[in-house]
Amino acid sequence: MSIELTEPVGRVEPVEQLVIIGSGPAAHTAAIYAARAKLRPLLFEGFLAGGVAAGGQLTTTTDVENYPGFPEGIEGPKLMERMRAQSERFGTRIITETVERVDLSARPFGVFSDSHAVRTRALIVATGATARRMGIPGEERLWNRGISACAVCDGALPIFRDQVLVVVGGGDSACEEASFLSKFGSKVLLVHRRDALRASKIMQERVLANPKIEIIWNHVVQEALGQSTLEAVRLAHVATGQQRVVPARGLFYAIGHVPNTAFLRGQLQLDEAGYIVTRPGTTETSVPGVFAAGDVQDKVWRQAITAAGTGCMAALQAEHFLAAHPE
Ligand code: FAD
Ligand code: NDP
Repeated sequence: MSIELTEPVGRVEPVEQLVIIGSGPAAHTAAIYAARAKLRPLLFEGFLAGGVAAGGQLTTTTDVENYPGFPEGIEGPKLMERMRAQSERFGTRIITETVERVDLSARPFGVFSDSHAVRTRALIVATGATARRMGIPGEERLWNRGISACAVCDGALPIFRDQVLVVVGGGDSACEEASFLSKFGSKVLLVHRRDALRASKIMQERVLANPKIEIIWNHVVQEALGQSTLEAVRLAHVATGQQRVVPARGLFYAIGHVPNTAFLRGQLQLDEAGYIVTRPGTTETSVPGVFAAGDVQDKVWRQAITAAGTGCMAALQAEHFLAAHPE
């Protein structure tokens, strides 16, 4: 980590050309392009922002097999380490703090974290998204005591070995997590609220071909049962409401994500789900000079490569903007 702006809040700091908020593929691609364009970007990578380690969502997965350039695949955390190293190599300065607030009412914009108050002529927001929770009875009591939102992080723990494990969801994450957990559990129950998976065909095929995975269609998890650790889940059929209690020691949520935009409310146009609205085909937001990249503005594709692609676009657009508006 290299920080130059370490003056305490309240002192006058130089105006930055470009601040980048985030630490996933979008933020680091933007940083690599901006640093090579001599914009000396300052990047806030967050400190467990939204509950996710710096490096973003890929730090919560094992092998990434679809990022070009790695024919044998690469572990998600390793890929993010390499992106970070590449950002630093070209001069990106990285602050390991979460941005709590921004002031976009006038340029230079204000960016505020625990111990930094920075002004910047352009801003790229690439804060990604965070796993959603269900909010069912028993969840709070049993969180991290059998309930988890990250099978890849927690699935190998001894408490889950040779036990019945439940995964909720029907997307790529749910399929990936069910496949991963099948290495450890005695059986994996994939509980989905519909009768068709949303996941890509290849992921569906892997799940359907795995003898340790059983899909429970048209059901939701209504309650997590157990005192000090998870012992069972109560399932309900979505149409009939019929309930049953299934013994299980693990409950893994894979039900999608919420964009990390709470700190932007009232400052930028967001859609009804909280995603940043960008002008189609660009990374421009409702505020000139502020650009958005990656999952924080993308409800459709949400891939490492698309996040990286929009990170590149944001850096190039910021560069053009700064050339046209130097002050
Ligand atoms: P993210 O990866 O979401 O990272 C943004 C990060 O910025 C946050 O996590 C946080 O650390 C930081 N941050 C947030 N708020 C702040 C703040 N206020 N201040 C400072 N920092 C902040 N895609 C693939 O292409 N291939 C795969 O194999 C694949 N596997 C996946 C497996 C799982 C389990 C998951 C959940 C996703 C997977 N994806 C995969 C999707 C991929 O991870 C995302 O599309 C991609 O990481 C999005 O990148 P991003 O740069 O938009 O942001
Ligand atoms: P998705 O939004 O794609 O899927 C969420 C799933 O959870 C859906 O099946 C949804 O049901 C279900 N769901 C949502 N809310 C609830 C709820 N309250 N109760 C029960 N079920 C619920 O999220 P993912 O995390 O799976 O994927 C996000 C992105 O990351 C995607 O673009 C995906 O392609 C990508 N990804 C890619 C991977 C890869 O390429 N290897 C691996 C993992 C993720 P319904 O279908 O009815 O809406």
